[in-house]
Amino acid sequence: MFTNKVYKLSPVFIQNILLSSRAFIRKKLRENKECEQLTKELISHDYDSEALKQYQSKTLKNVLTEAQRNIAFYQRFADDINRFPYIDKAEVNSNKDKFLSPNKSGVIIKGSTSGTTGAPLSIPQNMQSVITEQAFINRMMHWAGIQHNDKRAWLRGDMIVPQEQKKGPFWRYSYFENMILLSSFHLAQKNLDGYLNAMQNYGVQAIQAYPSSIVTLAKHLESNDTYYQGTLKSIITSSESLSKEDKALVERRFKCTVFDWYGLFERVAAIASCEHGRYHILTDYAHVELLPAGKAENGRDRAEIVGTNFNNSLYPLVRYKTGDHVLLSDEISCPCGRVFPIIDSIEGRMGDYLIAEDGQKVHILNHIPKGVSGLLGVQFHQEEYMKIRVLVTCNNDFTADQKLKLVCNVKERLGSKIDITIAIVDDLVRTKNGKVRQAICTL
Ligand SMILES: [Zn+2]
Repeated sequence: MFTNKVYKLSPVFIQNILLSSRAFIRKKLRENKECEQLTKELISHDYDSEALKQYQSKTLKNVLTEAQRNIAFYQRFADDINRFPYIDKAEVNSNKDKFLSPNKSGVIIKGSTSGTTGAPLSIPQNMQSVITEQAFINRMMHWAGIQHNDKRAWLRGDMIVPQEQKKGPFWRYSYFENMILLSSFHLAQKNLDGYLNAMQNYGVQAIQAYPSSIVTLAKHLESNDTYYQGTLKSIITSSESLSKEDKALVERRFKCTVFDWYGLFERVAAIASCEHGRYHILTDYAHVELLPAGKAENGRDRAEIVGTNFNNSLYPLVRYKTGDHVLLSDEISCPCGRVFPIIDSIEGRMGDYLIAEDGQKVHILNHIPKGVSGLLGVQFHQEEYMKIRVLVTCNNDFTADQKLKLVCNVKERLGSKIDITIAIVDDLVRTKNGKVRQAICTL
């Protein structure tokens, strides 16, 4: 809707009405009695390991039986999940129709993965999947202490303000949801105070944001040695990776807890952080297997997330290798009391990498900006072997010395002979969904 001509050419107050009406219809479709019921059931698992186990095994059994019965790709496999083969995005893409259930009744919603690794994968879902997904979102809100009518800010890449528009306001309002929606595409340094004021003036009680968008605001607050002036219950982040350092920074500057959610469009796994900062694998959302994948630099065991979706009977994926990695934890219980298994952290998406001097792909780039002052954002671009361009948003503390330090850090990680250029920009390059990728490598 946001890219059509009528919306784009309308005055701001009409845009608010259009956007609010659309949100109203979506809300009515998703948040029905069934969704409410399921949300309650999900919440009841949180502290009850027996109920969780039962729900988990019952759902997995149903998924496998249905898959075997209806899905061409799975017809030759038995009930035991260990007999199903591992699959990945490339395999699904080359057998697209073989994963589709013939039981296509009702509304079908199509969407696709972002395609940071390989070709995008298009996945259909029915209304039931949308409602179930909503119940899991509701539970996350419950974890974060957010109530139904709380005022919320939404900073998540909806193109509510045309990208070419250079003058604010860069936010709109969704009246029935008590929500201010802010554009992720206009987060240039000179606009940031306006964003913070808009949320404060609206009296926002919770924020739902892309990590890159909220971190940009937190770094801005830090660089002005100030704090968010409103009172927040919590912040929910999702859809990009959020490092431990950035999470702590956002919590400090916005003076509330960040609840981070890892999910993916394939819906084969969900991991959520609680008020004690532990990441819990939501074993009622999907069946997750953790395949050993070596050791991290800090000595922790690394594992790849492999998942089986519980919630898409139209397009079930069993033992789907995500390519995303987690680091394992030795903790078996969390002070929050919830019974879901704990992992230490989620590593960056495997899609973002650079090619080092020795020709190897380097995925973990979080360490490169460490210890460099004045940096607000960093993004690596590589179009040629042995050449890397680093885009930087910064404040005045990013002096010539710091620039040199950044160059040294890149060389230390990727090779001393690599040619590095640093470019100071207003804003980093965003995807069409408003996300910021850590690295864009076209080699
Ligand atoms: Zn916990």
